[in-house]
Amino acid sequence: MSNRAQAEVDLSAIAANVRHLLKHAGVPVMAVVKADAYGHGLIPVAQTALSAGAQWLGVALLEEALALRNSGISAPILSWLVPPGSDYSSAIQADIDLAVPSLAIFEEILSAGRSALKRPRIHIEVDTGMTRGGFLDEWDSFLDLLSKERAGVQVIGFFSHFARADEPGVLQNAIQLKRFIEMSDDLNRIDVEPEIHHLSNSAAALMDASSHFDLVRIGIATYGLTPDLKHLGSSQSLGLRPAMTLKAKLHVVKDVHAGTPVGYGATSTTSSDTKLGVVAIGYADGIPRAAQNAGVFVNGRRAPILGRVSMDQFVVELGKDSTAKAGDWVIIFGPGDEGEYTADDWGSASSSINYEVVTRIGPRVPRIYTSTTE
Ligand SMILES: *Cc1c(COP(=O)(O)O)cnc(C)c1O
Repeated sequence: MSNRAQAEVDLSAIAANVRHLLKHAGVPVMAVVKADAYGHGLIPVAQTALSAGAQWLGVALLEEALALRNSGISAPILSWLVPPGSDYSSAIQADIDLAVPSLAIFEEILSAGRSALKRPRIHIEVDTGMTRGGFLDEWDSFLDLLSKERAGVQVIGFFSHFARADEPGVLQNAIQLKRFIEMSDDLNRIDVEPEIHHLSNSAAALMDASSHFDLVRIGIATYGLTPDLKHLGSSQSLGLRPAMTLKAKLHVVKDVHAGTPVGYGATSTTSSDTKLGVVAIGYADGIPRAAQNAGVFVNGRRAPILGRVSMDQFVVELGKDSTAKAGDWVIIFGPGDEGEYTADDWGSASSSINYEVVTRIGPRVPRIYTSTTE
């Protein structure tokens, strides 16, 4: 291995997570593979999720959807962040389902459909309380326009997104669910009956059966990570298996005395005579610069970060008696089985969440695909 860092992605863990979610949710699964499959690699993850039984793929960007189609995937793909001015006709030609969250986008999609002589496949997106995408103020005008233009589109789906699904039991979830049903009734009143209704992300798919409808959109849980460690518990307690293990090499190992300042700003100083390791990965690769109380796992034990993370490297305290040497691989995060840090640990260490930790692993870090037998 000539890499200095690599993200190993266990595709059998992804397959097991998809199978677990299918069984648990009891409805079809859309594997959400936006943002390079949460940093795990778009095409290998999409293929694995489909083989494991997912029926749909979900992405944010049109480029992501087209990359999936161009790789030969024929499963239905929904793309929900395709702003005005995008090349909607390429989406329509490639049979990509498009979210319709506003009048402006609906009008562009209608006109692209007319030019393409093809009825666009749309999913009507409504704002039930997240206050991000989806119809809110324009809802009545949209219903009017849709009644007139009904023949110009295929209404495949109707969907919305929860703001607080990771806090089961909070009132806002019940309010959003009620609003979802009301807005769906509004559509039925103009004789529009979408084939599928979908509202649940991973957290709702795991915790709230009343919101599953015809399809659940599973992002973070596909990758074996918990949507929220505090409210929903660990990956393991949810029956999930983290798929990614991030590794890097020790670049330099050195003995230093007590009282040695470490790194930019000298924000840490060694408290005793000790051995330090320089890890060959940094914030340009997605290691959070703000991280504190995380570190690496080497020779069966944790070595905490010392000082600030630099662009391409950071320093850990290996301990005086460590036998680690330059060139050794260390684990930055993994499933946690052996005692290594996890993506959740790095999330808390940087006042963030596991989602941000995995999606920010940069393009300099090759993804290596593995498959263990289960
Ligand atoms: C990202 C996203 C999801 C997946 O959310 P997870 O919490 O990762 O399961 C589902 N639906 C929409 C609209 C999204 O943007």
